Parts: sequence; structure tokens; C-alpha cells
Amino acid sequence: MPAGKPAGERCLHLSVEHLCQLFGDPRRPQVCGDFDADPEVCGDSREDAIRLLGWLEQATSAA
Ligand code: SF4
Repeated sequence: MPAGKPAGERCLHLSVEHLCQLFGDPRRPQVCGDFDADPEVCGDSREDAIRLLGWLEQATSAA
């Protein structure tokens, strides 16, 4: 996604199995490689992560 990934939009590189298709590929954005999963952001499950990230997006939105 050359212009970046807008908040709330699914990344084009996320597979149907919810895996990064650029993992290990030098084209993977640095911000993705620099992110360390953290329970405060990701919770204990995919459902937790979706809920927490949705809350963070709303809490930090400029709108
Ligand atoms: S890690 Fe980055 S490139 Fe990979 S699917 Fe997630 S947002 Fe997309």
C-alpha cells in the first residue's frame, strides 16, 4: 500500500488466514517489523485485538 494503510482498512497483504503475506520480505513496511505484539494492544486473542485496536483508533482519531 504505497500511500500507507488508512485506519480501519484491511491491509492488502493480510491473507484470509490473517497472516502477513510480506513476512520476511524486504518490502514489508518497517513500521510492521518494528511493532512488537503487546498484551495491552493485542489482548489474548484476535477478538481482543480487534476490540482494543478499534478503541485506540476511536480514542486517537482527529475527528
Ligand atoms: S504486518 Fe503490515 S504489511 Fe503485513 S499484513 Fe499487517 S499491516 Fe500489512
